[in-house]
Amino acid sequence: MELERTFDQWQERLADLGFASVQAWKAQHPGARVIGYFPVYAPAEIIHAAGMLPVGLSGGGDRLDIQHADARFGSFICSIIKTTLEMGLRDHLKVFDGILFSSICDSARNLCFVMKRNFPDLYTDFLHLPHNPSSTASVDFLASEYRRLIQELERIGGRAVTETSLQNAIALYNHNRQLIRSLYALRAQKPHVLRAWESYVLVRAGNLMPVEEHNALLEESLEQLAQRPGKPRDSIRVVVEGAFCEQPPLDLIKLVEDAGCYLVDDDFVIGRSWFTDDVPVDADPVHALAESYVNRAVYSSVRHDFRAPRWEGLAEKVKQSRADAVLFLIAKFCEPAYFDYVLFKKKLEEIGVPHLLLEFEEKQFTFDRVRTEVETFVESLVFD
Ligand code: SF4
Repeated sequence: MELERTFDQWQERLADLGFASVQAWKAQHPGARVIGYFPVYAPAEIIHAAGMLPVGLSGGGDRLDIQHADARFGSFICSIIKTTLEMGLRDHLKVFDGILFSSICDSARNLCFVMKRNFPDLYTDFLHLPHNPSSTASVDFLASEYRRLIQELERIGGRAVTETSLQNAIALYNHNRQLIRSLYALRAQKPHVLRAWESYVLVRAGNLMPVEEHNALLEESLEQLAQRPGKPRDSIRVVVEGAFCEQPPLDLIKLVEDAGCYLVDDDFVIGRSWFTDDVPVDADPVHALAESYVNRAVYSSVRHDFRAPRWEGLAEKVKQSRADAVLFLIAKFCEPAYFDYVLFKKKLEEIGVPHLLLEFEEKQFTFDRVRTEVETFVESLVFD
């Protein structure tokens, strides 16, 4: 399929609150289960190895009015929490047989238990991801947590997760992450050939389809991109930080690019490229996944690692991508992102990297003020 058509088609599917592509998969696989997972990261390999379809949730976007969820949460909560619950209350999550949450923040933790109470027939689980990777117990702790998850999925799906099925799933997801890394490398090298919103759509599409199909989509797209002409624009190179969980409106990403920025790296949908290197395939696969979470994960505001400060990770990202500046794109009321903003800002000021903070919500339609802010920021750098 032509690249432009692929982008158009997936833009539509990502905005579809009815999960039509997931429903179609379920209809083609009678009896098979679908397990959704709330961002940021979930061990999709385990769900795949159980013969189920892992689906990454990304909130309700800008097409959902909140009618019921407000009554279950206070006002100062990010929009993805409310829209995810609203989707459940309005029957948009009917296709799911279970939903996984993890320890990314207090709001996500609360959402898990609010969902449990409101949907008692839905399998809702909370994964405790370790917060202290320096501890020698972290890997064993997470491996036991993953074994508990495996038992639950075996109970729901009635199919054993074998060592071979998990190793096969790890190999498929390793390949998936390699392809995403290639896409990002191409964008950093030739941002005029692949726009950030296009690569965003391609990567996020993987949240809604089997990994085998996503691998094929990425392979075909990379092949076509290698032939795609592109006219360089007069833009500054920018790294986006802070959009790791709730996702900004697609129109906002497009606007930032149109206002004079090449987005040469970002943390959009970061769970899909969570590991810096392949998860070992030959070893005990449960241990390998746990060990990779502890020792081979990207830096993130929801993963604490005292051995590798996150602000050093951002500084390294800026250096590797030869960025001129950092754009903090942070969801309104996102505590982990705002806590880290202070630390990131300090580091950037220390190394002399300019930065701009923009706040977003899922339901945002007017961008005039944002456009002016970005254009002013770009001009201040160009004419410096
Ligand atoms: S956007 Fe931030 S505050 Fe909201 S659920 Fe995600 S990590 Fe938590």
